Amino acid sequence: MKIRTPRLTPAARIAIGLISLVVTLLLLVDIALNMVPDQTDMQRKIRASISERIAIQVTTLIQAREWDALKVTVRETLVRDPEILSLAVRQHTGNILVQSGNHLKHWTPPDSGTSTLTNVRVPIFSNGAQWGDVEISYTPVTPQTLKGWLQTPLVALVLVVIPAGFLAFYLYMRRTLQYLDPSAAIPDRVREAFDALTEGVTIIDNTGRVMLYNKAFHQLHPFAETDLIGQNLSQIPWLVCAGEAQEPPWEYTQQHRTQAKAQLFTISRAGESSVEVIVKASPILDARGKQRGCMVTFYDVTELHHANEKMRRALEALEASREEIENKNIDLLYLATRDSLTGCLNRRAFFAATEPLFSKLTQEARDMSCIMADIDFFKNVNDTYGHTVGDQVIVAVTRILTERLCGHDLLCRMGGEEFCIMLPGASEDSAMDLAEQLRTSVEHLAGNGISSAKALQITSSFGVSSLKSGASSVSELIELADFALYTSKQNGRNRATLWSEDLNSQPGDPSVSNALARNPA
Ligand code: GH3
Ligand code: MG
Ligand code: MG
Repeated sequence: MKIRTPRLTPAARIAIGLISLVVTLLLLVDIALNMVPDQTDMQRKIRASISERIAIQVTTLIQAREWDALKVTVRETLVRDPEILSLAVRQHTGNILVQSGNHLKHWTPPDSGTSTLTNVRVPIFSNGAQWGDVEISYTPVTPQTLKGWLQTPLVALVLVVIPAGFLAFYLYMRRTLQYLDPSAAIPDRVREAFDALTEGVTIIDNTGRVMLYNKAFHQLHPFAETDLIGQNLSQIPWLVCAGEAQEPPWEYTQQHRTQAKAQLFTISRAGESSVEVIVKASPILDARGKQRGCMVTFYDVTELHHANEKMRRALEALEASREEIENKNIDLLYLATRDSLTGCLNRRAFFAATEPLFSKLTQEARDMSCIMADIDFFKNVNDTYGHTVGDQVIVAVTRILTERLCGHDLLCRMGGEEFCIMLPGASEDSAMDLAEQLRTSVEHLAGNGISSAKALQITSSFGVSSLKSGASSVSELIELADFALYTSKQNGRNRATLWSEDLNSQPGDPSVSNALARNPA
């Protein structure tokens, strides 16, 4: 069972210290300067003087033979001096002439014949010879009773100085410490209210010393259970600012006399989880606006911090999965809108993109051109080199077509070895120029990149149409370009033909050249 020792107030502890110092000093001064008189020595002198006086009186009366007066003197002396227990006049024959008090009981003849402190013998001379002695028994010098001890100067001094001095110091310190020890000045109910606060609160003075703290602060760290009063808050080792070393908020408040920005502190506890606290500091001003100290609050946000940490991790995971979904969507969109072999737009995506463009450019009375391209005798490539080489030729032609296109131009693989290019804002002349460039590039470059089929000669035919033709839809614009392509095929292939009204009058079946019909989506 733990025995609780009574808790002394700071004032009481200081008073004990001070009175101990005073008593020690008194004793030291007494030893050094002998200030308290030596009782025995004093008594010896006093008793010697009294005894001499009595002896003179007795001698005078004996010489005058006034025996009655002698008896009275002896008796009166005993009555008047309480320190004398018995008194007797003894002749040198040993015969007691006069006595007072119980001399037989009290008188102990000194061994060496000389007097002691309690038994004094004074010789009486008459006519030059010793007549006898005056024997006086005194009370003992050292106190024999408690009361006697208590009345000795040193004991009395100690007994009076210690309690009286302690009381005086205590009252004085209590008064003084009202400024330093607010615990003495704060009523219990205020302290209870203070302790009822869930957040830790500490009051510090202008030098940063802890003057008061509540229970919640007390519970922040096992070391806080020790008495922190008087300690400098900045020097409490377990109170550490989280993150970069910064000026603690209370130091800021002390310097600037304003509320400090809240800071996060991490309190590490051996064997226990650490505590996260938000620390704020506000100045304490007196009635004249002078700063008297600072109130520092410690708000435990450990749970909130953990919840935030969890939420942050969940958000990170969510963000990662959102990015993943976005990437997947991009992939899906790519897959849904692109041709898997060439990466060109597929027909659906191509029409979805070109139809709004067609309406917009038509409304704005701007131009747009369409190029249809088809690899010549492609079936022969497949038949001669195989389907894989055929695929490589399609890819090589796609690369050539793509390289020549600008930002807004759109390329679609219509099906098989047929491509459609939409050129927003391009006139039929510039479209024809481009078709001619593409034709030349295919002729000179497309076959070169196919390593498995040496000296492969690839050509392609082109057909061009534009809004100038009066086409009323994207499909119609494509059909007209396809018709021009058909004409290129008819006229010997590896060429580009611009659609015009005149083409319709040339031999051939225009219905055969319907690219859309040939390549159903
Ligand atoms: P023309 O000059 O008149 O266009 O003759 P052509 O042989 O190029 O045209 P045709 O329509 O007779 O043949 C086209 C061939 O393209 C038929 C088909 O097997 C082949 N083909 C279609 N799609 C693919 C494909 O994705 N890969 C390969 N390797 N061949 C394809
Ligand atoms: Mg072909
Ligand atoms: Mg074809």
